[in-house]
Amino acid sequence: MYTLPQPNVAGVAVEGCPVVEVHDDSGDWKHLLEVLYDGTILTEETIQFSLVAALIRLGRKYDFIKLLKAAVKRLTHDYPSTLALIDARQRADFSLNIAPYPGIHFDALSMAREHSIPSVLPIAYYWMIRAYPQTSWFDGLERPDGTSAHLAPGDLRVCLKAANKIFRTQFKDGYSLGWMTAPNPSSCLFPTQCPARRAEMLQKCIAVDPLLSGAQLVVESLSAAESWVKRCCTGCQPHLMQLMHAGRARGWEELPAFFDLPPWADLKNDL
Ligand SMILES: [Zn+2]
Repeated sequence: MYTLPQPNVAGVAVEGCPVVEVHDDSGDWKHLLEVLYDGTILTEETIQFSLVAALIRLGRKYDFIKLLKAAVKRLTHDYPSTLALIDARQRADFSLNIAPYPGIHFDALSMAREHSIPSVLPIAYYWMIRAYPQTSWFDGLERPDGTSAHLAPGDLRVCLKAANKIFRTQFKDGYSLGWMTAPNPSSCLFPTQCPARRAEMLQKCIAVDPLLSGAQLVVESLSAAESWVKRCCTGCQPHLMQLMHAGRARGWEELPAFFDLPPWADLKNDL
């Protein structure tokens, strides 16, 4: 920020030091100064989203590259861009880098959108439509501090379109839940019961609360997805498991396109 042009006139001074006038949120500067005075804050395992947001906003604006990178690292850790990292979230030693709260996906989405962190967008959109009822997409969601999180009009349009398309796609052959309607494998030991079980599971996935998107394009919990397949007989399982894994991977690969984003490989963060 020292490179920013300053007026060439004697300005206000405090204890002999020139005062630099800024026009940012005072809360953002409070967070930044706290980090400068106490660097251990950034070594804490989990920090508040408001701190991450402050470092991204001020880091971008004033070219505080190290602080910006540290904040973006937190965001990309919690909003990953590979399926392997999604699976890593299920491990016992995994912990979030940013403290969660109701409405955090709204804030992560707008932060990524406004500050050129595109790798975060697909999963932020996905969790947005998956985690919150549609009423909140229109009306916003109250955060614990009493303020409201809202979707930008453009993001609302993207979410509505994607939610509809995802729900229809996920049941198709080759996608995450396509195995539920696949032909029964010849190796099945119980050709009457297994298809009935799969039909039952399919019904549960379809009979979703109308306020929720019911998005399962990427089943986040691999163990949960595997446990569904394991409700079929051991003769069915290898084939259905293969279909489920392949469908889940395909859903992940195509996830950005559902939100009108370029492929994963092109979602490079500008740092
Ligand atoms: Zn079977």
